[in-house]
Amino acid sequence: MDAEGFSAEQIDTSRPHPARMYDYYLGGQDNYEVDRTAAERVIELLPDIKLAARENRSFMHRATQVVVGRGVRQIIDVGTGIPTSPNTHEVARALAPDVRIAYVDNDPIVSAYAGAKLTNEGNAGFVLADLRDPEALLRHPAVADLIDFDQPVALLLVAILHFIEDGEDPAGIVKTLTEALPRGSYLVLSHATHDFHDARQLAAVRDVYKNATATLTLRPRDQVAAYFDGFELLEPGLVQPPFWAPEAPVPNDPVLRGLGFYCGVGVKS
Ligand code: SAH
Repeated sequence: MDAEGFSAEQIDTSRPHPARMYDYYLGGQDNYEVDRTAAERVIELLPDIKLAARENRSFMHRATQVVVGRGVRQIIDVGTGIPTSPNTHEVARALAPDVRIAYVDNDPIVSAYAGAKLTNEGNAGFVLADLRDPEALLRHPAVADLIDFDQPVALLLVAILHFIEDGEDPAGIVKTLTEALPRGSYLVLSHATHDFHDARQLAAVRDVYKNATATLTLRPRDQVAAYFDGFELLEPGLVQPPFWAPEAPVPNDPVLRGLGFYCGVGVKS
């Protein structure tokens, strides 16, 4: 174990990890050769992936600002990703310093950085857990310590559900998590889709992820919309990231307007 509480052998460098590939798309340094090779192949097949990653991250920032602006003071961020400033707690606390955050990811590399970059200011915890066991996630002591399930919570599932296969029941997972939240809670969600690309191009991208530690399942609009069951979507609804509450008019750029992601924020009714 090192000072941050992880053992080096937990970091698997033999297979690409989605968290480290995403870090590479964002221009980060926290990735290994195996991740860079896989990510470069995806970039070759789908050059807009880097822009999609940045726009997805930017959606997450704006959505966090909106839910904190609406009074939320506790956030569960599942699929945290490798810390990339600003992280969710930094965005939230710029508006309300008392926001509490439970970060959750199943990748040990995220856990390795958590102490120094996510939880160091207090009122935040990191849980190394898998979304595919939502009951265990909800029961985890770090979540129970930070989150009062009688008060509104923002649940972030940003760019994670496409790593859950159909047979793993993503809708059931979302339902288990959202049922634990009181009315007035928020679901902040984004998801990769094939609705805007050529099917063959995306089949090749999916092949790259078949060798990674999580596979990629792209979903059409209606399936992504169904995750908001029991929630009322805030304006502008379920849209591609650049169109969700943009800070400036969206430029008339076909690449920007064709990104293969849906995102939205819903309030529990
Ligand atoms: N939410 C961040 C990072 C997205 S990258 C953002 O949008 O900027 C996706 C993250 O989900 C990675 O860190 C990956 O490790 C994590 N992840 C993938 N499958 C997971 C699972 N089953 N349980 C928990 N985390 C998972």
